[in-house]
Amino acid sequence: MLIGYKKRLSSMPPPTILYYLPMAPSISLFKSRDVAVIGAGAAGLVAARELRREGHKVVVFERERQVGGTWVYTPTVETDPLGSDPSRHIVHSSLYASLRTNLPREVMGFLDYPFVSTGEPHRDPRRFPGHREVSLYLKDFAVGFGLSELIRFETEVVYAGLVEDDKWRVKSRSGNDAAIDVEEIFDAVVVCNGHYTEPRLAEIPGIDAWPGKHMHSHNYRIPEPFRDQVVVLIGGAASAVDISMDIAQVAKAVHIASRSVEAGILEKLSGNAVDNMWLHPMIESVQKDGTVIFYDGSVVLADVILHCTGYKYHFPFLDTSGIVTVDDNRVGPLYKHIFPPHLAPGLSFVGLLWKVLPFPMFEFQSKWIAGALSGRIGLPSQEEMMADVSAFYLSLEASDTPKHYTHNLADSQFEYDDWLALECGIPGVEEWRKKMYQATAKNRKARPDKYRDEWEDEDLMLEAQKDFARCRPNGAGDN
Ligand code: FAD
Repeated sequence: MLIGYKKRLSSMPPPTILYYLPMAPSISLFKSRDVAVIGAGAAGLVAARELRREGHKVVVFERERQVGGTWVYTPTVETDPLGSDPSRHIVHSSLYASLRTNLPREVMGFLDYPFVSTGEPHRDPRRFPGHREVSLYLKDFAVGFGLSELIRFETEVVYAGLVEDDKWRVKSRSGNDAAIDVEEIFDAVVVCNGHYTEPRLAEIPGIDAWPGKHMHSHNYRIPEPFRDQVVVLIGGAASAVDISMDIAQVAKAVHIASRSVEAGILEKLSGNAVDNMWLHPMIESVQKDGTVIFYDGSVVLADVILHCTGYKYHFPFLDTSGIVTVDDNRVGPLYKHIFPPHLAPGLSFVGLLWKVLPFPMFEFQSKWIAGALSGRIGLPSQEEMMADVSAFYLSLEASDTPKHYTHNLADSQFEYDDWLALECGIPGVEEWRKKMYQATAKNRKARPDKYRDEWEDEDLMLEAQKDFARCRPNGAGDN
């Protein structure tokens, strides 16, 4: 799906890599920039580390009071269960209480800071740990690399816009007091604000008159409120699978409406795992009497409709004078999903891609951004970058890929990571990691309800452990 990598490798001049310095050089040939990073989730943390390693001066703005972003679970939900009221108080994380990672920890962690079990009694040693363990890992990462000193907690960026001389004005707000808004000028802004907070909803004919409750999975936490209820869940991706199994333990029935049942996973669940789950095509309409009609003609009297329909990219603070837009969930134009060609390298985005291995990808993206900002890594001209973006969009059109799938990398992700690594002059993704990612996907498909506790890739686990042993203890200390 991602065209342009091989083409660029063969038809464009090689990247300008002069040398790779993992640490800030004491006497540098390259420029040190003042950089604002928005968000201290996994993306913002690794971006901050890489920017500082490159010799930049970094301020990380984080509106919450701790690092971790998505991985900071909260039982609190938003006042609007659909998450569509723009004036609602935003709850950032979409995690549910039972969530365990859908990737094994070996593949999930940063490249030079393995996500290994610490062996401490309060930690979760499982290979697919619960969400708290990921949050603690990210805290360890921040402490290990001394990142906390760069972060302004409880400080929300309310405006980031271009001013003269290619500088960026960043206005931030601490607490809820508008009187302490602070305006600062930066050379660059790296946007790491996450994209699992602003719900995307399915359109359902008749929903305004439907008497039941409807909500988005962003506001799902525990199954108990669904006890003895008939629930219609819309969606077929990872969280839909998890949440349907969670709710099925207590609900009277769970009916899953899915456009494309991902790799047969839901079929298997509704066929085998529990006896109160049914699979349907999409909802055709809902009626005043509480019924839900599916496209196959089946009808269910339901209490709740739960949208597990994904999220929208949302940058309420960003002012690019229309250069970067979000159109049907396509953020663009962006060169390699990172740089708007006309604003590069001053504006960049880390972590827009989905169906990927997020943390290592954030790391490659961050290294590239840090090197491009210092001038150590050359970017193509604006025209070349725009041509690459246009060719990419044309390839999506040619393959009938909808616009809102622009940042779904899926099968091309390792090619993408390796391309970034080449630009940065560093090794790409380890072979064991690629194979383990694929083995997990296969296992998840074969046993959706058990893949987190049963697997057959012990050989790859051994390879990973050997690789980790070669890292310094957790890589930390190397700021
Ligand atoms: P986030 O973690 O969302 O962090 C963004 C940060 O930006 C937040 O701290 C937020 O407070 C801050 N912020 C936002 N706006 C502003 C502002 N204006 N000013 C200041 N700060 C701001 N990934 C995996 O690798 N494995 C998994 O098993 C996995 N499971 C997942 C399950 C669910 C339900 C979800 C939603 C995601 C899952 N992911 C998983 C993907 C996960 O999102 C990524 O792993 C990663 O946490 C994303 O990091 P991020 O830094 O891009 O965004």
